[in-house]
Amino acid sequence: MAIRPIQIKGTEVLHQPAKPVDNFDQSLEVLVQDMFETMEKAPGVGLAAPQIGVGLQVFVYDWEDDEQARHRGVAINPELELFGSEKFNPEEHVEGCLSAPGLRFPLQRSPMVRLTALDLQGNKYTEIAKGWLARIFQHEFDHLQGLLYLDRLEGEYKEQADKEVSEQDWPKDSVWMPGVDYDAP
Ligand code: ZN
Repeated sequence: MAIRPIQIKGTEVLHQPAKPVDNFDQSLEVLVQDMFETMEKAPGVGLAAPQIGVGLQVFVYDWEDDEQARHRGVAINPELELFGSEKFNPEEHVEGCLSAPGLRFPLQRSPMVRLTALDLQGNKYTEIAKGWLARIFQHEFDHLQGLLYLDRLEGEYKEQADKEVSEQDWPKDSVWMPGVDYDAP
């Protein structure tokens, strides 16, 4: 097990679609273990493989809801269906990303999703998620399509994000090390 450096916006792997996993072997197990460990240390509630420089369709998540129920798992080669709409609340519906450390912006998402994915053994499962977990799934799924939440911002939030991103002036192909560099966003 190892904590792996997290890629920062601008690195190519974050901006291109990830490839499906077809070998459910030990290297996949190590990747997923490392992703859980890296996410925990960051700390974050979700992490996609491209964020640690691996262009494969894998994300992990670990989030506790208001009733202290823990939602933890791995999604491999996921599909995501979106349901419904809700009134946008810019104070509440705020996202951050470990690949854009220090920034947070409001973004409207679907309030409900159905995730269909493979687990580490290659077995298919389905999970319905609402609220914040639905947001986590949409955020991580986007990473596997080469999209950051920043790419989805609109209007004043997009303008503000463009400005703040340019102020950050992250060097090309840069990474940060959880537990060493930034505080998580
Ligand atoms: Zn992210």
